[in-house]
Amino acid sequence: MNIRLTFLGATRTVTGSKYWLSIGQKNYLVDCGLFQGPDELEQRNWDHLSVNPKEINAVILTHAHIDHSGYLPRLVKNGFEGPVYASDATCALLELLLPDSGHLQEEEAYFANKKGYSRHKPALPLYTHDQAVHALKFLRPVKINQPFSLDEQLHITMRSAGHILGSTLLECDLSDANRKFRLVFSGDLGRYDPEILEVMRPPTSVTHADYLLVESTYGDREHPHASVEDQLSTIVTQAVERGGALLIPSFAIGRSQQMLYYLRELQEQNRIPDIPVYLDSPMGVDATQAYTRFGNDPNLKPDLFKRGNGSLLRCKHTYFTRSAEESKQLNEMSDPMIIVAASGMCEGGRIVHHLKYRLPDPRTTVLFVGFQGKGTRGQLLRDGADEVHIHGETVPVRAHIESIEGLSAHGDYHELLRWLSGFEQAPKQTFIVHGEPVANDALKAKIEQQFHWPSVRAPEYLNSVQL
Ligand SMILES: [Zn+2]
Repeated sequence: MNIRLTFLGATRTVTGSKYWLSIGQKNYLVDCGLFQGPDELEQRNWDHLSVNPKEINAVILTHAHIDHSGYLPRLVKNGFEGPVYASDATCALLELLLPDSGHLQEEEAYFANKKGYSRHKPALPLYTHDQAVHALKFLRPVKINQPFSLDEQLHITMRSAGHILGSTLLECDLSDANRKFRLVFSGDLGRYDPEILEVMRPPTSVTHADYLLVESTYGDREHPHASVEDQLSTIVTQAVERGGALLIPSFAIGRSQQMLYYLRELQEQNRIPDIPVYLDSPMGVDATQAYTRFGNDPNLKPDLFKRGNGSLLRCKHTYFTRSAEESKQLNEMSDPMIIVAASGMCEGGRIVHHLKYRLPDPRTTVLFVGFQGKGTRGQLLRDGADEVHIHGETVPVRAHIESIEGLSAHGDYHELLRWLSGFEQAPKQTFIVHGEPVANDALKAKIEQQFHWPSVRAPEYLNSVQL
């Protein structure tokens, strides 16, 4: 039987994860992510998909992040109407993430039309909030560690990947009349770092794959060994001394909860002042509640939420702001405070408005705590831009810029190699995905050097291979 894998995203880049698995006449999509970042990448969200959405039998999602799930409403809009399998916690997070993504698409189109800075006239959203809500109807929650079958030829087991709540790697067992083989998708892989393991579990080890797709976000880098809590306490203390706000652009899901956890730890130990902490993100607030609700998710450290009487993610003065009105009121406050807001790469969400308002103020501190994709506003700011463009306006940057790398939800190359060392035999073919070219190539070299695996390569966009 003809079994093919076609790479529709996350090739030589970190966004747009999408893999088309065709088994005879059946078509499956593993991950359904949005491209994010530079215009030429985002333009791909408008491309015709190589496979007709109407002919896709099912979608399987590794986790809820938009670069793995955010194309789903577009797929449904273009005619897909099959089941979408994802872990139960991922389904809960998608109920927050996808409608928000639709809202952001509409907002971006609105601002583009208002200020006339779009190349498209008029600028249109990729999909709307309502279309995203409609797409949720296709979700089919699956339990992690419980195998399920899509048809006789394809059996899948999701294993926790330790990346965020609900995150998984996929063990796919394929068969036809003549052969059986295993295809493994790593999804995004978490960490083995002791400070991260205060909250998360490490990725599940896998011992066998005939074909392997492995992520390489940090394939060329090592996370710093400096303690995250030490760095954070210094940065918060200095921000308070500057007398302004500390803005923390952060993914609403995962990173925001991690920040709340560390800030509470530091306040409890009297290592930072008791300044107010605003989680200015309705989705972040809902996600924080989901973390508590799915406390048994295999990605989380067991019994995590039994500590702290349910206030594990709340500092002494933590405020969850939901309405836009409450968010705007933060502009009127000039005393030191911490604002945690999405999006993590400053491409959308409430953080953009806070940046526009506070970047020109030298008392402001901006702290980056996550990966910044190439060409994103976050990357420009982190790398020291003197000005950035927000909603068609030029905003001067006088704020103090800081970053902490060690908080990543992705393993560095040591951690990726540690996970790969669980394989008892070399996969026949290893595909390096979800990384910039330099990260792809560095991880490939390290795998060849350390494991001597044959056929390790980083596929290009739209490459297709026969399995
Ligand atoms: Zn992710």
